[in-house]
Amino acid sequence: MTARILDGTKIRDLVFADLANEIRELAAAGIKPGLAAVLVGENPASQLYVKSKIAACEQLGLASWLHTPPASVTTAEMLDLVARLNADDAVDGILIQLPLPKQVDTKAVLEAVGPAKDVDGFHPMSLGALVSGRPGLVACTPAGCMEILRRGEIKIEGANAVVLGRSDIVGKPMALLLMHANATVTICHSKTRDLPDVVRRADIIVAAMGKAGFVAADWIRPGAAVIDVGTNKVTDAAEAERLVKNFPARLAKFRDKGSIVVGDVHPDAVNVAGALTPVPGGVGPMTITMLMSNTVKAARLRRGKKHGSGAANSQSATSQTATSGAR
Ligand code: NAP
Repeated sequence: MTARILDGTKIRDLVFADLANEIRELAAAGIKPGLAAVLVGENPASQLYVKSKIAACEQLGLASWLHTPPASVTTAEMLDLVARLNADDAVDGILIQLPLPKQVDTKAVLEAVGPAKDVDGFHPMSLGALVSGRPGLVACTPAGCMEILRRGEIKIEGANAVVLGRSDIVGKPMALLLMHANATVTICHSKTRDLPDVVRRADIIVAAMGKAGFVAADWIRPGAAVIDVGTNKVTDAAEAERLVKNFPARLAKFRDKGSIVVGDVHPDAVNVAGALTPVPGGVGPMTITMLMSNTVKAARLRRGKKHGSGAANSQSATSQTATSGAR
C-alpha cells in the first residue's frame, strides 16, 4: 500500500481561497482584520518566520504591523508594548515571536496578551475555552492538523486517535480537538509504556514529539491516517541513511546539502499508512495558514460578527461539534 499524501500546501491554498472570500465580506462591512507581530532581537530563524507571516498577511490583504524591540528589551517594556497593542482597536491579533531573550519573562508576556487577540492560542484562557468547548482561538498547529484531517476526508468520529506528545501548544490542544470531534483519544508521552502497541491500535496517529523518525513503520496499522507534526533537521550521515535509505532522491539531497528535514514518523510509513502528511510540506504550511485564519476569526469574534463561509469557520465548527451549540 502507498499512502495517499495529505498535501499541506494544497490545503493551504484551499483555506486561503476561503479566507479571501471571508476577508472580502468583512471589507464590505468596513472591517480590515490586522495582525501585529512582535519580533525581539535578530534571531535569523525568528526573522524568517515573522517575514513569512507578514507576507501571508499581505497576500490575503490583511493589515499587519511589525514591532522590533532590541534584544536588550525588558519584561516591563514588553508588557508596555503588549498593553498598547491590546488597547489598539485596529489590531485584531497579537503575535509574540518566540523565543524571547532570557531576561524577559515569556510566560508573563504571553499571558498579558488579551485573550480576544491571542491568535497563537497560547493564553490559558484560550486553552480553557478549548477545554470547555467555548468559542475562542485555538493554537495554530493543532488547528492546522484538524483542517488537514477534515479536508483530507479522514473520518474522525468514532476513530481511535493516538496523540504522541503532550505539549501545551501541540499535543494537549490536538487531543482536545480530536475528542471534541468525537474521536476516542489516547495521549502518549515519554513515560508511556508499550508505545508501539498503543500506536498499533490507532486509526489516526498524530506525532508531535520532536524525535526524527521515531515512530516505526511497523507500529502503524495498515490504512491508518498519519499526521506528522515533527520537524527535525538531520545532519548525521548514519542517521540520514537509517531514515531515507529507501528514498534515493532524499538520500542524494542529504549528500548534496549535508542535511534533510524529517518528521517524527519514519519515512517508510508511506508504505503502510492509508494517508499521511509529508515532511516537509504537510503540517508545516498549515501553521501560518491557521494564524491567518485566527486573525480573521478574532476580527469577527471581537465585533460579534457571525461566521461567513470559509476556513476560519471550520476550526470553530470542529469545536462546535462538542459544544452542542455553546456558541
Ligand atoms: P515538546 O514541547 O518538546 O514536547 C514533546 C512531547 O513529546 C512531550 O510531551 C514529550 O513527553 C513527548 N516525547 C518525547 N519523547 C518521547 C518518547 N520517547 N515517547 C513518547 N513521547 C515522547 O515539543 P512540541 O513543541 O510539542 O513540538 C513537537 C514537534 O513538533 C517538534 O518536532 C517541533 O519542531 C514540531 N512542531 C512543528 C510545527 C509545525 O509547524 N510543523 C509546529 C510546532 C511544533 P514528556 O511530556 O513526557 O516530556
